[in-house]
Amino acid sequence: MNVSAIDVASDPFILNERLSVELHRHSELLSRVDRAGIKGQKPRVIWLTGLSASGKSTIANALELRLHGMGRHTMLLDGDNVRLGLNKDLGFAAVDRVENIRRIGEVAKLMADAGLIVIAAFISPYQAERTMVRELMSKGDFVEVFVSTPLELCEARDPKGLYKKARRGEILNFTGINAPYEEPESPEIILDTSYKTVEDAVEIIIDFMCQHGVA
Ligand code: ADP
Repeated sequence: MNVSAIDVASDPFILNERLSVELHRHSELLSRVDRAGIKGQKPRVIWLTGLSASGKSTIANALELRLHGMGRHTMLLDGDNVRLGLNKDLGFAAVDRVENIRRIGEVAKLMADAGLIVIAAFISPYQAERTMVRELMSKGDFVEVFVSTPLELCEARDPKGLYKKARRGEILNFTGINAPYEEPESPEIILDTSYKTVEDAVEIIIDFMCQHGVA
């Protein structure tokens, strides 16, 4: 019989059978530090969180370009790209948003374990989901950057017209309008792009990484 991925995801018998299998992590001869060491860098996950249009993607791209220019091996994970692929089965209800971030966190961890400097730009509106991702990582690997641009400025920018749609009631669960954004409790870095240029923001993150022996 040919069993498709949809059968496996929806068939409770197959699911139960899968859950009953005992899983064990295999020990590895090489660590994430060994893998990163060959590149002369330390693995890190730079996690940008903030409202839509706060500047996460713009800063993340500029940061990646800067690190690449410094000879660092990076990988950028960005909201829309992940939602068009890995997470295209997920919507924007709270439960899907948490699953979205959980999967991204696991992918970021795999990449950090491969020795990369991962830059992740996601609204990630809930404190609990950001804590979940932080706890997935090895201690010190996670650098939370709160892009704290105020809602009024994000809405005035509105580069994709999403705030206007949300105000008209055409988008449900839009963070800041009809869904909450929980500000980070203790981010490593706070950047308000009302006062900081993109270049300033990149320098602040690079400075932090240098001070902590990352870049
Ligand atoms: P997000 O990824 O948070 O949704 P984007 O980076 O896609 O936000 O959009 C932010 C918009 O704000 C872009 O059009 C960008 O050019 C603009 N912008 C203006 N000033 C800044 C700044 N100092 N930092 C980042 N973005 C800025």
